[in-house]
Order: sequence, then C-alpha cells, then structure tokens
Amino acid sequence: MQAVGETVGVIGAGQMGAGIAQVAAQAGYRVLLADVGRERAEAGKAGIAKQLDRLVAKEKIASGDAQAAVSRIEAVDGVAAMPECALVIEAATEREEIKRAIFKDVGAVLGADAVLASNTSSIPITRLAQASPDPARFVGVHFFNPVPVMGLIEVIRGLATSDATVAVIEDFAARLGKQVVHANDAPGFIVNRVLMPMLNEACFALGEGVATIRDIDLACQLGLNHPMGPLTLADFIGLDTCLEITRVLFEGTGDPKFRPAPVLVKYVEAGWYGRKTGRGFYDYTGETPEPTR
Ligand code: NAD
Repeated sequence: MQAVGETVGVIGAGQMGAGIAQVAAQAGYRVLLADVGRERAEAGKAGIAKQLDRLVAKEKIASGDAQAAVSRIEAVDGVAAMPECALVIEAATEREEIKRAIFKDVGAVLGADAVLASNTSSIPITRLAQASPDPARFVGVHFFNPVPVMGLIEVIRGLATSDATVAVIEDFAARLGKQVVHANDAPGFIVNRVLMPMLNEACFALGEGVATIRDIDLACQLGLNHPMGPLTLADFIGLDTCLEITRVLFEGTGDPKFRPAPVLVKYVEAGWYGRKTGRGFYDYTGETPEPTR
C-alpha cells in the first residue's frame, strides 16, 4: 500500500475541516490548515486546541499528546503553502463554484504525485475532478460529523480515480484508525442515500399528522433502537443540509421517492435550521430541547 507523506493540507477550517485537521494531527501528521484567510484558519486551530483540552479534562488523552497535536497544526494563508503536501483534503463550504476555484488554485502548487481529495457530501466526484489538476489523483473522502468521534470514511472514486490514489486514502484512513467503505459516485453515496429518505419520511409523517415530534422520535429511538430519533438527528445535521442532500438525491436520480417533504422545505424557508440556529424541530434556547409542535 502506498503511504501518505508526513504533511497533509486541509482547506476549510469549519466544523469538518477542523475535525479532519485534529484527527490527522493526533495521528502524527503535520497539518497545514487553510481557510479564506489566515484569521479563519487560526480560529479553526484555536477551536481544535479547545476540543483537545476537553479530551484532556475528561482524561481521554494525555496533556502532552494534546499539546503535541496542536503544535503539529500550522494555520496558513492559503494553498500557496501546500506544495510539500502528499495529500490535500478540501473541506470548504458545499458550493461547487467555491470548490472549483480552490482546485484551480491548488492545481498551481500541488506536487506531481500528490493526491487531492474532497469531503463533499453531495457533489459528484467525477464532475469535481474535471476542475482538479489531475482526475486520476482526485478522490472523494467523506468523513462524518463529529470527525474525531465517527469511525467511518466513505471513499468515492470518480471515473478516472486511479487505484494508487485510493491506496493513498486507505493508508491515511488506517493511520487515523477509521474504517473505510467504498462507494461509487452515485447521489448520496451510501450513508446519505439510506439515511436521508428516513429523515425525509419522518418529516412527511409529521406534516401528515401521523404523530407529534416527540412521538416520532421516541418511536424510532425505542422501536428501532436508534441512539436518537430522526427529527433530533435532522436538527443535529442541520435542516438546510438535509434539504440540500435530499434535493441532490431527487435531482440526481429523478426518482419521486426522494422528493423533499414540504415540512422540511418550510422549516428551512423559516430559517429554522436546527441546533445551529437555536430552533428546528426542537427549541434549543432553554436548558433542555423542547419540541416546537
Ligand atoms: P462549515 O461551514 O463549518 O465550514 C466551511 C469552511 O469553509 C468555512 O470555515 C469557510 O470559511 C471555508 N471556506 C469557504 N470558502 C473557502 C475558500 N475559498 N477557501 C478556503 N476555505 C473556504 O462547513 P462544514 O460542515 O465543515 O462542511 C464542509 C464540507 O464538508 C462541505 O463540503 C460539506 O458538505 C462536507 N460535509 C459536511 C458534513 C456535516 O455534517 N457538516 C459531513 C460530511 C461532509
């Protein structure tokens, strides 16, 4: 198996990029972390330091290990600092034009053998690869949120992705202690293809008056032995994100079974995106989340 070099670039220091930078640094990689500017990248690094402090306080990791991980992360101005990276992972905002512009910039500096990977949750990898410097060295690496907790990476091959590129990601994932599954470049890959219709169906059930928010969640939690109900999970992921992925499934397959539930559309139109906005199917402004209807 081909090994990843010792330096990994991460573009986008939001919740996913910071999580990826954290686990890579904890696995011993040097990480160059970029965002739209140095300040954002520094803020991402500061957030990682806080997360690691929490793990130290909970006695999950040693304080020396946390400090060493933080010291391996360097917030940088942009991709210009990344020619030495054997692997660059893009985890910027889920907008195709943003990602395309990033790949153009990376193309100017990426080493001849380096792999470029995207953490996109919904944009087709084969299409994105067209904006990359070399589609054979381009691949989808779909991490899950929160990255330090979730043990899975979906690896998505575009039409031109080479075996050597997939091997680089398998090596990286193994060092991170993450399990890899391989998915073809189809809408939603595996997890969202299966999950989003369930969350969307819970929204249909709510809209049709089948049951209350509380009872839909409790029924799935206890009846299906899920750790959280579908409406709670949708709030956690972000209702805007759920709607976007459901639309990708609907448009990508043309199958009406994936049409977004009107309730989901309404909540997003209202700006009620879930936990991140303080209100979704639950109100998060009090001590404990309360169903909103
Ligand atoms: P986020 O909004 O938390 O972070 C995105 C970051 O990208 C922001 O810090 C933003 O400033 C930065 N950014 C925007 N334009 C940029 C540019 N030109 N150059 C560098 N950085 C730029 O979003 P997120 O939840 O971390 O999602 C990032 C990616 O991960 C998306 O592609 C998303 O689909 C994917 N993803 C998200 C989840 C999830 O549950 N949130 C799960 C898997 C994959």
